[in-house]
Amino acid sequence: MVKEDEKMKVLVLNCGSSSLKYQVFDMTTEEVLSKGLVERIGIEGSRIKHEKTGDDPVIFDVPIPDHKAGIRKMLDALLDKTHGVLKSLDELSSVGHRVVHGGEKFARSIVVDKEVLKVIEECVPLAPLHNPANLTGIKAMIELLPETPQVAVFDTAFHQTMPDYAYMYGVPYHYYEEYRVRRYGFHGTSHAYVARRASEILNRPYNELKIVTCHLGNGSSITAVDCGRSVDTSLGFGTVPGVLMGTRCGEVDPTLVLYLMEKENLDTKLMSHVLHKESGILGVSGISSDLRDVEEAADKGNKRARLALDMLCYGIRKHIGAYAAAMGGIDAIVFTAGIGENSSTVRKQVLQGLEFLGVKLDAGKNDVRGEERIISTDDSRVSALIVPTNEELVIARDTRELTTG
Ligand code: ADP
Repeated sequence: MVKEDEKMKVLVLNCGSSSLKYQVFDMTTEEVLSKGLVERIGIEGSRIKHEKTGDDPVIFDVPIPDHKAGIRKMLDALLDKTHGVLKSLDELSSVGHRVVHGGEKFARSIVVDKEVLKVIEECVPLAPLHNPANLTGIKAMIELLPETPQVAVFDTAFHQTMPDYAYMYGVPYHYYEEYRVRRYGFHGTSHAYVARRASEILNRPYNELKIVTCHLGNGSSITAVDCGRSVDTSLGFGTVPGVLMGTRCGEVDPTLVLYLMEKENLDTKLMSHVLHKESGILGVSGISSDLRDVEEAADKGNKRARLALDMLCYGIRKHIGAYAAAMGGIDAIVFTAGIGENSSTVRKQVLQGLEFLGVKLDAGKNDVRGEERIISTDDSRVSALIVPTNEELVIARDTRELTTG
């Protein structure tokens, strides 16, 4: 039997179509006890990269035909005498799942039951690549640990506070009624975490601040967080609008899509591939989707690499300005995710030209990677900050909160 005070461990799962990321938290201290990645599920060469905090990662090369088998192997790794962190699965108080799309039904995290599973299923057409994998993970976990509560944490939930005039598109209204076409937004867990964290770092009340959060990774989005509520965000119905991303185009005029489909004789599948996989930083630079490669090439004088960087920074700056106007002011700008946390060049170029808003960058403080800190000068009216994101911690916190009676 596991004592009640030992049942403070929460497992966080992020289930993709052929991979699965996991972390185990001890919620008494919010410490990560273990994390790992199950890769190439259902494909030759599947393996688990598992790490117990403080030890070197270990790799188990094992056949993993499906998600259920992957979860079983992950649980074996967590129970392993040498590399594990659990003596018994009863030590897990609950499991938190990242779910990409909760549609209009979920404005917050929720304990999974039959009805919740049904709604996630109903949202599959809105996130056809992600929700099925998320669902598979939840269902497999329920089968393997039927007594352990499962919680769904949605990428879209934080943005459900947007007003209708921000989330509606100017197409005939009946399309919204029939197909729920509207702006949903994504990366909500990340935006919510870094905005709140910024208020803590600035030591100012979260519900009084106007913050623009810039989540800049392979996928990117900018969000206006007005007094703790998302009021606008740059991703939309899908995950291509807004700023230039690794391989996604960002904002384009929809008529160019129609034009290209006609000119190149592309069907919807091929056109979708162009917009999602061949565009963005990769498509413009012709070099790579990875910003590090593009920064290096731009430094060496490559014109298209420079253009991609300029487009990225200009797009971010434009959104910050628009969102300051949307909120009627701005107190802080937060940078997070791979590019936001690591690229001092992008942060500098974005903030250049925003002095009129009252933001002054401290070049010395900006010269840093992946560290939580204020990067604006002490006399800057608007604060600029780097806040490394931690979506897993938010999922673990929500899961713990919703499952302790
Ligand atoms: P994902 O959206 O897949 O989670 P990440 O948040 O990991 O992506 O961000 C990946 C991006 O971060 C890549 O474009 C990568 O080039 C960029 N990045 C990571 N480290 C650096 C760095 N030191 N300098 C510039 N860009 C970086």
